[in-house]
Amino acid sequence: MKTIGLLGGMSWESTVSYYKAINEGVKARLGGLHSAKILLYSVDFQEIETLMRQGQWEAIGEILTSEVNRIASAGAEFLLICTNTMHIVFPRIEAAVDVPLLHIADATAKVIQSKNYKKVGLLGTSATMEEPFYKDRLLNKYGIETVVPESADRGLVHNVIFDELCLGKIEDRSRTEYLRIIENLASQGAEAVILGCTEIAMLVSPDQTPVPLLDTAEIHAQRAVEMALA
Ligand code: GLU
Repeated sequence: MKTIGLLGGMSWESTVSYYKAINEGVKARLGGLHSAKILLYSVDFQEIETLMRQGQWEAIGEILTSEVNRIASAGAEFLLICTNTMHIVFPRIEAAVDVPLLHIADATAKVIQSKNYKKVGLLGTSATMEEPFYKDRLLNKYGIETVVPESADRGLVHNVIFDELCLGKIEDRSRTEYLRIIENLASQGAEAVILGCTEIAMLVSPDQTPVPLLDTAEIHAQRAVEMALA
């Protein structure tokens, strides 16, 4: 079994899901008392979030590259960055480290392709819904088209992530809004909706929606299990 590196803490609420899903995945495959070999480094998210609000992506890239190198030098054989948004600096990190990185959108695209979906909804932070790094990767590398909510709803989705989910708050009012937004995406032809933020599965579940939900934290974690056991 390979040792999995996790760069977490963005937020720690969703890093808990990764830790649990990876260990459950290894147990399901190997049985008994088997569990995953994991090296986890967890950042102080306030520091990262402050830089993000200031648009200081260069500085974020520098910090995350150094933390990835720290995990790699501790012995991780491949690595996951446990957030969608921070993949905005993925190319910079990938170029500066020797250990293979498993891109969250690549793992998600493989699941989308296996289901033969051509057009999917995308929910996440403003950066994930609006910047090209995620949508273009899905389109250019895999031919997957994405549809995002309109501007006011993107603001709502983003604010719920930072003001509630990253703080572990689950509000019924926000769930109702998310379900409305997911229904809108489905009515625009989305065959499934990517929960393109690793905390969103804390709020909504597939039994509440007219289309399947693709939980990126779960998908990323399961792909890590496959790679660790390959
Ligand atoms: N965990 C979230 C994501 O998957 C948002 C937090 C962050 O900005 O990293 O994008």
